Amino acid sequence: MKKLVLASNNSGKLREFGALLQPLGWEVVPQAALNVPEADEPYGTFVENALTKARHAARITGLPALADDSGICVRALGGAPGVHSARFAGEPKSDERNNALLLEKLTGVADRRAHYVAVLVWLRSADDPQPIICEGEWHGEVLTAPRGSGGFGYDPLFWLPQLEQSAGEIDATLKNAVSHRALACRELLERLQREA
Ligand code: IMP
Repeated sequence: MKKLVLASNNSGKLREFGALLQPLGWEVVPQAALNVPEADEPYGTFVENALTKARHAARITGLPALADDSGICVRALGGAPGVHSARFAGEPKSDERNNALLLEKLTGVADRRAHYVAVLVWLRSADDPQPIICEGEWHGEVLTAPRGSGGFGYDPLFWLPQLEQSAGEIDATLKNAVSHRALACRELLERLQREA
């Protein structure tokens, strides 16, 4: 098996990426297991943050690296909360306070269109001049009150008109097949398969 460092310590992501990449011969190792401290994410775009995290992990370990960054972009808010999605309502991060703040900011706003974004960056080495960058989007609308208790983050507020359910109500297997993260992962697999 070839080794890959995952620039995240989130156990859900480790499981997801591990299952995805194992058939391609990759063992996914979380950065904490290789003593990589978390990198700062100071940038205003998902791609810059993901690239910075991946490069940091690749540089320290000498291994190929994978990083992701994701969030929700609301049309009427000029794309906010965007890269600040996890901490929209400040520290400590709280889904409940983030959701309350989002509802407050959209009070009386008619255009409630929003989308989730996931960006994945794969670096073959820290100095890779051509990272593999994959992006997935999942479009919906922000509800005026939460529905459902599944998923995480903004899911109870994220209405999917075609499915007539919120992301907090839909089946987890379905979410994992159609979400922004699923689309970005699928693209990554295709790109890696072409390289193999
Ligand atoms: P990160 O990419 O792990 O930093 O996550 C960024 C933040 O975006 C999360 O904390 C959530 O607030 C939000 N987010 C990203 N993907 C989803 C999703 O699938 N459902 C709900 N919230 C999400």
